[in-house]
Amino acid sequence: MKITGDYHSHSKFSKFNHGKNTICEMAQAAKNKGLKALAVTDHGPNHILYGILRKNIEKARNEVDEFNKNNEDDFKLYFGVEANIIGKNGKIDLTEKEIEKLDILIVGFHRFALTNFTSLFRLNSNNKKLIKKQTDAYIKMVEKYPVDIISHPNEYIKLDLKRLAKVCAKHDTLIELNPKHFKFTQKDIADMLKTDVQFIINSDAHSVERVGDVDYCYEMVKKFGIPKYKIVNLDKTYIPKKFRNKG
Ligand SMILES: [Zn+2]
Ligand SMILES: [Zn+2]
Repeated sequence: MKITGDYHSHSKFSKFNHGKNTICEMAQAAKNKGLKALAVTDHGPNHILYGILRKNIEKARNEVDEFNKNNEDDFKLYFGVEANIIGKNGKIDLTEKEIEKLDILIVGFHRFALTNFTSLFRLNSNNKKLIKKQTDAYIKMVEKYPVDIISHPNEYIKLDLKRLAKVCAKHDTLIELNPKHFKFTQKDIADMLKTDVQFIINSDAHSVERVGDVDYCYEMVKKFGIPKYKIVNLDKTYIPKKFRNKG
């Protein structure tokens, strides 16, 4: 098994040397490794350390367009952001206009992202009421925005994965299998497999060396028995929502 495209990675637009390489370097690395697609998805602007500056969203968009113009082959570079969920109403840290500039929208929870409701999210708490509130926020987010992928669910904050997966299935939002932040138990996977939700395997690479490096996820797919047909970029091509809708 092999992924054909890697839809979650970071460039130098993630500040403080968080992303080590330029967009073009990341794309070239993906091509060299035989991938057919890469999405560069720097952190959303509310991340106080690594977030992309709002003024750089346009700049990054242009770099992606420039790369695609100069590489007229079957490789596709996508522009996205890994936005932050910042409120109990499901709000994320991008405006409608900024979302329009993206090819692909990833959303996740991160420490050090400014939230509107600091008391809402609590790190690694198993409190049932809190898990319900956090899951409610995620569900509102999926219902409100054209989210392609939820990055590393269950990392940092716990969620009711079965309830979330059901809503994701309805809205064509993917659950990410992330080798650096794989926080699922056998039961979590079994619960999600009872729904129609689909998965995507992404590297979350912050440097050229790690582009497409998802071996740990292949091991987990085997260990937990996740059927291949439920993983959208495994031995087949995944096209982000925006491009499918244009038909
Ligand atoms: Zn992340
Ligand atoms: Zn990331």
